[in-house]
Amino acid sequence: MMNNPIGVFASIDAGYGVPLEVVKELGIKTIQLHTPTKASRTDENAQAFLKKLQEYGITVTTVFLGFDGETYESIARTAETVGLVPEKTRAARLAESYEIADFAAKLGPVMSKPAAIGSHIGFVPHDRTSPEYKSIVETTQTLCDYLAKNNQTLHLETGQEPVDLLMAFMDDVARPNIFINFDPANLILYGIGDPLGALRAVASRIRGVHCKDATATTGTPGVDWGCEVPFGTGEVGAEQFLRILHEIGYTGPLTIERELSSEPARQKAEISQAVRLIEELKAKIG
Ligand code: MG
Repeated sequence: MMNNPIGVFASIDAGYGVPLEVVKELGIKTIQLHTPTKASRTDENAQAFLKKLQEYGITVTTVFLGFDGETYESIARTAETVGLVPEKTRAARLAESYEIADFAAKLGPVMSKPAAIGSHIGFVPHDRTSPEYKSIVETTQTLCDYLAKNNQTLHLETGQEPVDLLMAFMDDVARPNIFINFDPANLILYGIGDPLGALRAVASRIRGVHCKDATATTGTPGVDWGCEVPFGTGEVGAEQFLRILHEIGYTGPLTIERELSSEPARQKAEISQAVRLIEELKAKIG
């Protein structure tokens, strides 16, 4: 039986996710949470948020790292601004990652075990012999070691590099608590290639997924964005995606991600459709 719980990407005050009230209304019981803004990551807020999640019966499966100054406005700007790779902001963001991990630890009673910290780490340099590559490997090792002390794992979001490089990078980081959050749409959006082939290639390391869909760019892949569309209506192949997840023995949450927070009514309607589609497909797959 395909028993994976359904999840949704949620936000308190930052990021593209849906508000908690919408999660509750849709009857969804697991969330991945975009990190709250720095100002919101207080003890008091953590306790209030924890109480609300307990009241709603919602489990947090991942807390995603997010930082001021990140922008996804173009692929080039994403490479310049997102994650731990950009060198100018790296030290400060690593320190902030520890704070976010400690905030997640305060949500302990509603976090899945082991608790996961998710990250778009950035565009990892492709030359494995370069000093830039070695340096981001070391930073990631340092982060993994910090998370290990909190009994947390690091889930790298897919999309910004070919999966063979992602696998080699994880081998080089060589820590037992580093895994993958597989987002099939990102591979299409970033022009990296066939998401379902990639899914099989990284199967052993997947601990989270995003049910997200996209169509490829009509411009230059890797330079121009593809287009994010409702799950099941793009080029991922939703049924095949779930079938492969079932086949590889993935039992974790199926977390719907729809980056449409500027249009909340449409976002909610499309997530609700995605929930129905996933329920139908799970029943069909058996
Ligand atoms: Mg994603």
